Amino acid sequence: MKQAAWVGTVVRLVGFFGLSFTVFTGCADTPNVVPEAPSTPVARVDGERLIAADSEPGNWMSYGRTYSEQRFSPLGAVNDQNASELGLAWSYDLNTARGVEATPIVVDGVMYTTSSWSIVTALDARNGVHLWTYDPKVKKEKSKHTCCDVVNRGVAVWEGQVIFGALDGRLIALDAATGKVNWEVATFDPTLPYTITGAPRIIKDKVLIGNGGAEFGVRGFIAAYDVDTGERLWRFFTVPGDPSLGFENDAMKMAAMTWSGEWWKLGGGGGTVWDSMAYDPELDLLYIGVGNGTPWNQKIRSPGGGDNLFLSSIVALRPDTGEYVWHYQTTPGESWDYTATQHIILADIELEGEPRKVLMQAPKNGFFYVIDRTNGALVSANNYIQITWATHVDKETGRPVEAEGARYEDAKFMLYPSYLGGHNWHPMSYNPETGLVYIPVLDIPAFYAQPAEEFEYRPDYTNLGIDGITAGLPDAQAERDALRPLIAGRLVAWDPKTQKEAWRVEHSGSWNGGTLSTAGNLVFQGTADAKFVAYTADKGEPLWEFPTQTGVVAPAMTYAVDGEQYVTVNVGWGGAFALVFGEYVHAKSTPNMSRVLTFKLGANGSLPEPKWKPVVTFNPPAQSGTPESIKLGHAQYQDTCMGCHGLNAVSGLLIPDLRGSALIHDQAAFDNVVLGGALRDKGMASFASELDAEKSAAIRAYVIQQAIRGQQVQASQ
Ligand code: CA
Repeated sequence: MKQAAWVGTVVRLVGFFGLSFTVFTGCADTPNVVPEAPSTPVARVDGERLIAADSEPGNWMSYGRTYSEQRFSPLGAVNDQNASELGLAWSYDLNTARGVEATPIVVDGVMYTTSSWSIVTALDARNGVHLWTYDPKVKKEKSKHTCCDVVNRGVAVWEGQVIFGALDGRLIALDAATGKVNWEVATFDPTLPYTITGAPRIIKDKVLIGNGGAEFGVRGFIAAYDVDTGERLWRFFTVPGDPSLGFENDAMKMAAMTWSGEWWKLGGGGGTVWDSMAYDPELDLLYIGVGNGTPWNQKIRSPGGGDNLFLSSIVALRPDTGEYVWHYQTTPGESWDYTATQHIILADIELEGEPRKVLMQAPKNGFFYVIDRTNGALVSANNYIQITWATHVDKETGRPVEAEGARYEDAKFMLYPSYLGGHNWHPMSYNPETGLVYIPVLDIPAFYAQPAEEFEYRPDYTNLGIDGITAGLPDAQAERDALRPLIAGRLVAWDPKTQKEAWRVEHSGSWNGGTLSTAGNLVFQGTADAKFVAYTADKGEPLWEFPTQTGVVAPAMTYAVDGEQYVTVNVGWGGAFALVFGEYVHAKSTPNMSRVLTFKLGANGSLPEPKWKPVVTFNPPAQSGTPESIKLGHAQYQDTCMGCHGLNAVSGLLIPDLRGSALIHDQAAFDNVVLGGALRDKGMASFASELDAEKSAAIRAYVIQQAIRGQQVQASQ
């Protein structure tokens, strides 16, 4: 298209002297003039093209490739017969060092991707040549409001614009050709603990974006913005506000009947829409996944019980107005961080001889749901992983039957799946040819107990409402080592018709990448132990792998340019598990090397040798804190520091391991950072509004204890 516009035709050019003249370009192979600028418009995606996405399989025009979000590519040039001939075609180094979760978009030969800190990059999809980068310059201290790393899952494109959400809540539209800002709008007050990490979707000239923040305390919502101006057109809250102020709509009035107490005073109820959306153009329904409550513990949030709508629900809305149509709640009275924000896939499948329009989700709670997407009725549900919180989902009521003790009211409960879920944000994929869904499964336990002290809402900080020390890892190294084999991850191929596992591949660690399936009978997945692997889609047989030098969490995608199929995956370890579970992070995952890797048949590119040494150098001072102070420090650390610096002060090495920090040698220097905010510009905000000198000293004493222990363990190895 780009060439056809000018090669072999008469082209009018304006020369150096401002003179207008014409040139005849005689031969397509050796053109003697160069046009002033590419004449092909870029990223001219619209609703018509997106709805007909299967008619142009070479493009990947929206987050999940199609509105149905199947992440299945009809391209089959790379297939189970030749996948072993895949090699590195090109790579591009992203200049960030935190988790990379984005799915690149490719339209007409141009790739648009994001990396951490919401930085957007455009590349030539054929060779990785850099076109432009846009950095929204998010203030680093905003990381204080992130539960799960400073990640971003990608852009949306529409009629020449590239649109994305920045971590600090700005929705920004760029000119796809230049990367210059067309418009930007704040979707929330950035001083509130909301964040954006998800990719926008665009339906009928409306940009849809939600946000995260339910660990801290926010009132979840999704809103639609005009694609040309950024003007907000509608907003749908997912949980009711203060009833005395009136309700925004009937849906909120209905939802409020399912809550008790004064939840709006505890941060707003939660229920953030931080990731999944899907759209059925025929039914004209937008489906959104809603997250957990604030605080997690329902006994505190809604002491009289109740379902607490629309937490942990899939909600169907009208995209034109945001009007509520139906909902299905996966986890009524959510009390475990069991979000239903996980990937939603729409498919038309035959069940008992009848074609059915279904929606599929494997939310954190461990059940795989098949829902009738016309009305929200449960078709079937079965657990895709071992679970302890419920026995099954009752087919008649559509509700889970909870196990005794699961609400940890009287005693500590060993919960499967953990707060990380049986499946987290890492996208699954559905292959209509095999009829299987490929789920990146997590298999990790967690321990829940009521808090030792009365819950006090902490504005601007995490508010989980469970006992932090119980939820953490055991203090003794031997006990933590004993837990190691329980921290597992696998790729599961799930049959939604029979609700049974078809095959599985056990990985060597947890927190592996999202999946892509293709018409070449292939499934692609990156792993925590730094591999990018192709399996057969029907049987799960490994065919090919490439060493990625860093853990992979993002899903792969595939596209074609000039008749050649490419497979791309963003690599760069990160996310919640990477930060929190430093103890169990695979050594090959760390540290982060953020890159776009693109493969094609017959290529043989290689990556430069990595230079890092992922090791903590211990040099702790003598312990001067009292046992009481260390104990206080442990509790404070769990409540305030653990989310970034890791359980038991063991970092995943994406950010500094405090046990090896020079700051623990000097309380004044430590306070200067923790209370004074001296490293604010590096992402370590001041915590002075929550911690005081006593607590800061206690945290330091706890970290020194952990450093001394870590040094002993390292010496014994
Ligand atoms: Ca959560």
